[in-house]
Amino acid sequence: MATPLTPDQWLRILRAEGVRVEEYPGWRTRERDAATGKAFGPVRMFLNHHTAGRNARDVVAKNGVAGLPAPLAHVYLARSGVATMCSAGRANHAGPMAVNAYASFRDEKSTHPAPSKASGTVDGNDVAYGLEAENLGDGKDTYTREQYDAWVRINAAVCRFHGWTAESVGCHKETSVEGKVDPRGPVEGYGSRGRFEFTPARFRADVAERLKHPASWSPGSKPAPNPPKENDMALTPYDVWAYKGRAETRDAYAYLRSTEARLVELTGQVAELNATVARLAEQLADTTPQG
Ligand SMILES: [Zn+2]
Repeated sequence: MATPLTPDQWLRILRAEGVRVEEYPGWRTRERDAATGKAFGPVRMFLNHHTAGRNARDVVAKNGVAGLPAPLAHVYLARSGVATMCSAGRANHAGPMAVNAYASFRDEKSTHPAPSKASGTVDGNDVAYGLEAENLGDGKDTYTREQYDAWVRINAAVCRFHGWTAESVGCHKETSVEGKVDPRGPVEGYGSRGRFEFTPARFRADVAERLKHPASWSPGSKPAPNPPKENDMALTPYDVWAYKGRAETRDAYAYLRSTEARLVELTGQVAELNATVARLAEQLADTTPQG
């Protein structure tokens, strides 16, 4: 059924979804299938993590950590929003998943129970794609706007490809029987939304919204800029005379208008005086004895 994406399919769907993608050297063949004797797939869900550190791309893609060989995920997502492909095969990211939680993602249930070890476990690395998002994981470090946007796009791209709903998208803390807490922390913003706290439910809602649109869709823009100020260059003299100022500056415009009216009045009076002077000068000339 759900055969894992090939390297070429990964690149194609992520780029179609508007994700900036880089390829880690050797990623197309770096996997844990041969070493474990367990082939990756069929795939049933997408699992999200945080790195609990900075600049962990080499660790995730190639170096691994003590007792846990790389690759540690399929996708490494930097704070910049750039995704790096690390593997298309089996990756060490999910560990044991509680059966009750796993089943809710596999079956795309609308609710996801807390992971219960008593329900049994499955090897999550058999069945789940994994993404590591760069974040300190201390609950305070912020996911950037660019990072969260790409994160939603990546999850949506995979759901779109396999025909999954957003209920196939889970977080490590939702499946782990080892007390994992990832991902967590504040998000700088998304679409027209300002700062908010990452939660799996909200993340799924954002993926679900994205799936209602074509892959090329971009969520609502950033908040609209402030309306132009009165002293903007865009304000023309006509705007001033036409009394188009905002309420708080209308007194200033009224002053300008009354000054203009007074100037016109005075100019007219000066013209009348000039005419009178000219007429008197003419009369004076007429009465001056000719020499
Ligand atoms: Zn994790």
